[in-house]
Amino acid sequence: MTNPILPGATLGVLGSGQLGRMFAIAARRLGYRVHVYSPDVDTPAGQVADREFSAAYDDLEQLGEFARSVDVVTFEFENVPAAVTDCIQQHCPVHPSGYVLSVAQNRIREKSTLRDAGLDVPDFREVTSADELRTAVSKLGTPSVLKSASDGYDGKGQAVVHDADQVDEIWTALATEQAILEQFVDFECELSVVGARNTQGDFVHYGPFRNSHTNHILDVTVCPSGLSVNVNERAIGVARQVFECLGVVGVLCVELFVTKDGQILINEIAPRPHNSGHLTIDAHRTCQFEQQVRAICGLPLGDACQHADAAMANLLGDLWNHAEPNWEALLTCDVKLHLYGKAEARPGRKMGHVTALGNSISDADRDVREARKSLLNK
Ligand code: AMP
Repeated sequence: MTNPILPGATLGVLGSGQLGRMFAIAARRLGYRVHVYSPDVDTPAGQVADREFSAAYDDLEQLGEFARSVDVVTFEFENVPAAVTDCIQQHCPVHPSGYVLSVAQNRIREKSTLRDAGLDVPDFREVTSADELRTAVSKLGTPSVLKSASDGYDGKGQAVVHDADQVDEIWTALATEQAILEQFVDFECELSVVGARNTQGDFVHYGPFRNSHTNHILDVTVCPSGLSVNVNERAIGVARQVFECLGVVGVLCVELFVTKDGQILINEIAPRPHNSGHLTIDAHRTCQFEQQVRAICGLPLGDACQHADAAMANLLGDLWNHAEPNWEALLTCDVKLHLYGKAEARPGRKMGHVTALGNSISDADRDVREARKSLLNK
């Protein structure tokens, strides 16, 4: 067994957005130093890190310098080329591994790997041309969902095929070389389970969280899910199997559909803390970001127990459309405000989130939505 990486050591993060920022806050609280790496400057994570490396992901010289300056590396942005993890691994451990990353980066590899491990995913076909899309649509029927195989997030690079006549138009508009056509899942609800596994193989989980999306972007998460024990336990079981079959060390989120007839299908996996897990900062003994620190350092995992029902609402850049949001109004509400330090508010950009705790998820859900609405008070 490898020795744990103890407080005082330096942790490296690839990517520098809000997930890296919340990781860095958790790591610094535990007495670690944090170095972040991304092509940008004055980033959400860089603002709270000890050192911000600003260089391209394919700048192997800078990556080498970054890797030599830290004791272990983790991710908050997973779409980095395999060469990046290969380069870093020559100097220090990387968690989750390059293998886990490569599975999560490509939707066809992801769904095939999970299906081959005996897990349930929506029916799908690989598509590399308009003709293949036509054939796939005839097999899966309409509606069906076309997604670019890589680099898609928050619904980007996706289209719903409603009619076989749209095939040429949709294929041209997607402008990709490799895509996946998925059966359209008429789901009852969407869940996610965030888990953490350390180098010793200990595992803890959060959730399931119940998630609602607007325009394909996560809008509100509640926990507990309000679903039956049976559904919750099956969802957790699926997440545990994903960790085991991929040998994950670190934090990973499994996003799930619950179908109207109670089936649980994996939508996708994200090998890092997840937006739906943000409420763990305020509602759980140990948050997902502290677990990421503990897991990658080979330390005992923290207690993942929840101490109050909770709801989290995202604050998107749209809230800045007409004027600065009314922070005074929000701060009179009994909620926790988290802002990510982003200078420019763009529509759809995640600028922050708000968490409410309560005696029930319906109370917390109501409070968090009302607090968010108060930002628009004149
Ligand atoms: P994704 O980027 O794959 O997480 O998709 C974003 C959102 O689009 C999901 O959270 C769902 O709300 C919706 N979606 C994705 N795939 C499907 C599908 N196969 N059937 C129905 N809805 C989907």
